[in-house]
Amino acid sequence: MESTFVSSIGAYVTRFEQDVASYCTAQKGVALVNGTSALHTALNVVGVQAGDEVITQSLTFVATANAITYCKAEPVFIDVDINTMGLCPIALHDFLDEHAELRENECFNKKTGKKIAACVPMHTYGFPAEIDKLCELCSQWNIPVIEDAAEALGSTFKGKALGSFGDLGVLSFNGNKIITSGGGGAIITDNMEYALKAKHLSTTAKVAHSYEFYHDEIGYNYRMPNINAALLCAQLEQMDEFLLNKRELAEDYRAFFDKIGVKFRWEPNNSRSNFWLMCIELDSKNDRDLFLNAANNEQIMARPIWQLMHKLPMFAHCFRDNQKNSTYLEDRIVNIPSSYRPNGK
Ligand SMILES: *Cc1c(COP(=O)(O)O)cnc(C)c1O
Repeated sequence: MESTFVSSIGAYVTRFEQDVASYCTAQKGVALVNGTSALHTALNVVGVQAGDEVITQSLTFVATANAITYCKAEPVFIDVDINTMGLCPIALHDFLDEHAELRENECFNKKTGKKIAACVPMHTYGFPAEIDKLCELCSQWNIPVIEDAAEALGSTFKGKALGSFGDLGVLSFNGNKIITSGGGGAIITDNMEYALKAKHLSTTAKVAHSYEFYHDEIGYNYRMPNINAALLCAQLEQMDEFLLNKRELAEDYRAFFDKIGVKFRWEPNNSRSNFWLMCIELDSKNDRDLFLNAANNEQIMARPIWQLMHKLPMFAHCFRDNQKNSTYLEDRIVNIPSSYRPNGK
């Protein structure tokens, strides 16, 4: 506040970009106004265009699919894995095997004739997807990977930070996320060209000059204000403490739910979750509804997982595979209160 640099330019933006990149072991960070704009920018950076297809999962928060349509591209919904709740490598393999074709090193859907311009796997509630297999498959088909790690800051897969596996990773700092700037987002990447392009597009595509206003393409005002970046610099320093506190809550929940025979979802093999949102799996949709009603009647906030994207009116026409696991999880997964406990209790 005292520096007067409260708006879109200032030292904390630059510092946060460096800090978040280094926290996630990426070369570059670009701070943005929210996670949705970070997804939109990342899709633009890899060249997603009108009429293209972009692979993602139907079991996700609506922002993932919305960002794809901001580029006038179409989401293609592939099933998730039952254990990770993230995009399923086998389902992705099956889809590509049946639909994909390489033409001059670009991937096309041979049934629709459209380019498959990107793949956006999402790490549900901070639980890591099998991101190594997903990246490997996409690289075989020359499909850029944008990792939607909006919920997964602090989670790791085989010891490596989520967000750092894809060509670009996307983070969110919305009020409900593990650290928050009120609203905020970031792109992380090892590709210098991508980082520069993301910065350029998100800052009105203004060409640097000491006084002239010259913009060389249509850009966006997607900048994170400096005042918000300052909040994030402070919270990033406390990540270890936040992660430990949440893991202790997860362990308490696990012990409790084990005793009463309810499945508390735990991190998949080879991975560490940030336990952003903790959840249980009920035996049926009916049990789920009973639980939700009972909890909410007691003023305990419990919510179901998202309704599948292909059931929403604006995505109902999009391609989807059988969605077996997504449908199973949609009917059974419920979040339970997951906040940081100030005194560890
Ligand atoms: C929160 C979230 C976003 C969007 O982030 P905002 O900062 O709210 O725009 C995108 N994808 C997923 C999976 C999210 O949970």
